Amino acid sequence: MFSRRNFLVKSISSLLYLPFSGCAKAVGLSSINHEQRVNKLSDSPNFNKSTKRFQHPSGDLHDKSFSNLFDFFAEYFRRPRDKWESIGFPVRKSRKSELENFNKNVVWVGHASIMINHSNLTILTDPHFFGYASPFSFMGPKRITTVPFTIPELPPLDVVIISHNHFDHLDEQSIRQIAVHQPQVKFLVPLGLKKLLLEWGANDVIELDWWQSIKIKGATFQPTPVQHWSKRSAFDRNKTLWAGWMTQWQDFSFYFAGDSGYSNDFKEVSERLGNPDLAAIPIGAYEPREFMKSAHINPEEAVMVFNDLGAKRAIAIHWGTFKLTLEKMDEPPHRLKSALESAGISKDRFRVLQHGEFWPESLS
Ligand SMILES: [Zn+2]
Repeated sequence: MFSRRNFLVKSISSLLYLPFSGCAKAVGLSSINHEQRVNKLSDSPNFNKSTKRFQHPSGDLHDKSFSNLFDFFAEYFRRPRDKWESIGFPVRKSRKSELENFNKNVVWVGHASIMINHSNLTILTDPHFFGYASPFSFMGPKRITTVPFTIPELPPLDVVIISHNHFDHLDEQSIRQIAVHQPQVKFLVPLGLKKLLLEWGANDVIELDWWQSIKIKGATFQPTPVQHWSKRSAFDRNKTLWAGWMTQWQDFSFYFAGDSGYSNDFKEVSERLGNPDLAAIPIGAYEPREFMKSAHINPEEAVMVFNDLGAKRAIAIHWGTFKLTLEKMDEPPHRLKSALESAGISKDRFRVLQHGEFWPESLS
C-alpha cells in the first residue's frame, strides 16, 4: 500500500541518503564525438524503454523496500555518538598563492570534490562547498569538516565534472556560485542533467552517455559506467544517468569514480581506456553493509577497484565530510590502511589526504 508514511520515508531518503539532450550552447575549444551523440535520452542503450529510466547492466540493485528504508533511518537516527561528527577532521587551509599558481597538481577539497591541473587544464569534480548534502540549506546530512577554500578563491577552471545528481555530489548552491564567478567554465554531466544545470545559471553544459567522448583543450573526457543510481526527488529515480569519468591527456590520465558499488565496470574501464595515472576512489559511506553494498564500495573493495583499474596512484574520496551512513567517521582510512597492507600496496600509492591537502609529490 502506498501509505503516507511510505511516501514520507522515501522523500526523506532522497534528502538524507543520497543517498534533452544536445551538445553545449558554446563548445569553444572542444569537439564532441558526434557519431556517438544521443539526441533523446531514450536513444541511449542504457535507457530502459519500458521503465523509462536509466539502467545499469546489473539492474537496479539499490531499489529498497519500505521496511529496508525504515530500518536504515531508525538506525541512523539512533546511532551512537561519534566524536568526529562534532569536531570534524583537520583541514589544510590553502594559501592564496597556492591557489593562484595551481599547476600540475591535485587537491582534495572534500567528499567527492577534487581539483586537478594538468597541461594547462584545470578540472573540478562534484563541487560541494556548503553546509548540507540535502535539498535544504538548514537540514539533512550536515557537513562536519569545513572547506579548505571558497568558490571565489578558486583558480580559473576549465571544466567541472559531475558524476550524478545525489545531493552530496551535485550541490545547487555550488553550481550557481561557480556559474557566477566563472561563467566560462564547461560543465560535463551524464545524460539528463543538462537542463537542470542550465536552470541554475550554467552557460556551457555538455551531457554525455557512457563511453561517449569529448575533447577539450587537448584532453579527452569520457563518462564510464558505474554501479549506482540517481534520485533527487520522490519521483525521479534513475531518470538521469550516473557515471565515473576518465580524462586522458597525451601523457597523463585521471579517473574519477564518483560513487559506486563494486562491479566489473572498473576492469572494463582499464581494458578499454588503459590504466589511469591517478584515480579518485571512494572509501566511505558503506554501513550497514547489506543495505549499502550495491551502491557504495567499502575500503577493501576500494583496493580491489585500485587493482582492477591498474591505477598508478589513487586518492581516497567520499569520507570524512558528511555523515551519511553508520560507520564511524574515522573508520574508512583505518580500514583502507589495513586493506592496502594485506594487498601489499604502499600507502604512498593510495593516499588518504587531509581535506585541502595537495598530492605531495610530482604527478608526472
Ligand atoms: Zn550517490
